[in-house]
Amino acid sequence: MPDPLTPEQRHRCMSHIRSRNTKPELKVRQWLWQRGYRYRLNVRSVPGKPDVVLRRYRTAIFVNGCFWHGHSGCDKFRMPKSNVDFWQAKINRNRERDQLNYQILLQNGWQVIVVWECQLTPARFEQTMWEVELRLNQNFLSIYKPKTYATPTDEPLPIAAESRSAYGKREK
Ligand SMILES: [Zn+2]
Repeated sequence: MPDPLTPEQRHRCMSHIRSRNTKPELKVRQWLWQRGYRYRLNVRSVPGKPDVVLRRYRTAIFVNGCFWHGHSGCDKFRMPKSNVDFWQAKINRNRERDQLNYQILLQNGWQVIVVWECQLTPARFEQTMWEVELRLNQNFLSIYKPKTYATPTDEPLPIAAESRSAYGKREK
C-alpha cells in the first residue's frame, strides 16, 4: 500500500513523534534554568530516560503528553473515534511502561515528578512550576537533612503535609 503521506509530511510526522524536545518540555526546562536549576536531559542510565534529571535533587521529571501517556480524567485525553481497540491497547502499554519506570526509579532512591501537558497551559503554568519547585526543595531536604535532626520514627517534615491549595494561596 502506498504511503499516503508525502516524504516531507512523513518526516514531519515521524520527527514530531520522535522528538524529545517537545514544546511543553522546553517550557519546563527554561523555567527551571532561569530559576538556577541545573539538569541533564534524557540521561540514558536513568530508567525511563526522564525528560529532565536533577542529580543534586535526585529527582527525575517526566513531561507527559496527555494523550500518549493516557492522562485519566483529562480534557486533552479523548480516545479517537476509530480504531478504539488499537489506541486503547497502545495507551495502556504506555501507561504500564510509565508506571514500571517510576517504580524502578523510586526503588533506586530517585524521586519522580510527573508534569502533564495540560498543567502547562498559560493559565496553569506558573502554579504548576511553583509546585515542581516545592517538590524539588522537599526532595533536597530529604536527601541532605542533617542526621542529628532525623527522628527515630522518620516522620515526614511538616512541609510535606502542606496541601496544594494552601501553597497556591501563598504570596510570591
Ligand atoms: Zn492532561
